[in-house]
Amino acid sequence: MATMAEAVVDLDAITHNAKVFADRTGTGVMAMVKANGFGHGATQAARAALAGGATWLGASNAAEALALRADGITAPILIWLYPPSETFEKLLLAGIDVSVGSVESLDAVADAARATLHVANVHLKVDTGMSRGGVPAAEWNPFFDRASALHDEGVLRVRGIWSHLANAEEPEMPGIHDQLAAFDRARRQSADAGLDPEFVHLANSAAALRVPETRFDLLRIGIGLYGVEPVPDMTHGLKPAMTVQAQVLLTKRVPAGTGVGYGHDYVTEHETTLALVPLGFADGVPRQAGGVAAFQVGGERCPVAGRVAMDQVVLDVGDLPVQPGDVAVMFGPGTDGEPTAREWAEWADTNPNDILTGIGARVPRRYEHGSEHGRYERA
Ligand SMILES: *Cc1c(COP(=O)(O)O)cnc(C)c1O
Repeated sequence: MATMAEAVVDLDAITHNAKVFADRTGTGVMAMVKANGFGHGATQAARAALAGGATWLGASNAAEALALRADGITAPILIWLYPPSETFEKLLLAGIDVSVGSVESLDAVADAARATLHVANVHLKVDTGMSRGGVPAAEWNPFFDRASALHDEGVLRVRGIWSHLANAEEPEMPGIHDQLAAFDRARRQSADAGLDPEFVHLANSAAALRVPETRFDLLRIGIGLYGVEPVPDMTHGLKPAMTVQAQVLLTKRVPAGTGVGYGHDYVTEHETTLALVPLGFADGVPRQAGGVAAFQVGGERCPVAGRVAMDQVVLDVGDLPVQPGDVAVMFGPGTDGEPTAREWAEWADTNPNDILTGIGARVPRRYEHGSEHGRYERA
């Protein structure tokens, strides 16, 4: 390893994962590269996903979408979060599609279209039961009527209609059929208002794999693109793309009864070796995982000894012959016994998305092709 700590991103894994979704479903893939590509690097993840057959990109806000355009990415991009004061001009000039979830935002996008003389491509967002973004069912009719009028005026093109599922990764998927039925009603009402959007989209990673009726024209694939199986215990051949690792900076032999770290939460039971690793909660090692988590060093799982500090953790490596410069793996694909992002999620009582997006900006990303490289080498 050339740096003290790093996140190695296997771009071929992202390409492979995009292809898995496209091939298994025969449906278009919108690669969700929001939040810096779930921490992997938005532009790099976008390029890798497009190489695997993705045809759309999802970014949550204007800044993320414009950064993709500034990096030369020309694929269609959808955004869905903006403040009430958003003016949309820059987005329209950059050819970015906008999700609209209220009559007010339809009007604001239409104003920007008139001002820029650029037809606005919009995706109508309907709330089918998640009660987060989107127009609630009671307001669908006036919303579709307004969209239809603006479409007929020629300022808006209603290119998509979409919604989001609340429970696609839960074991029993409660409510999914109610959400599908509500989505169906929304689509019929929009058709009655004269709309015929080209892209109907509902499924996230879990729904795309589990519920074929949710696939429609486009899948919005986030966590699966980065290789985490969206439903625990169901495997579809996805390859985790990120490995987070750091060099051991220091080792020390200590006797039984030695207190380690803040508060001495951990006290050694035997004589043992402690190893200092420069990754802490500011880098995304969840503080809640102290006491249960492990890194892998020299092929063995070694527990985190005591509390996770801001910049570092101490591992109890027992009698392993660990030396400064050895590589400690926080998580990786799991193929060599190292922990995975899903295990860290369990240790921290969160989800793998939180672990991946939590890897801090201080950890340099290094891009590789092929998963065998860049792990376990000495500095
Ligand atoms: C993040 C996101 C997705 C992707 O969901 P995954 O479960 O990560 O595949 C899909 N749709 C919307 C609206 C999202 O915000």
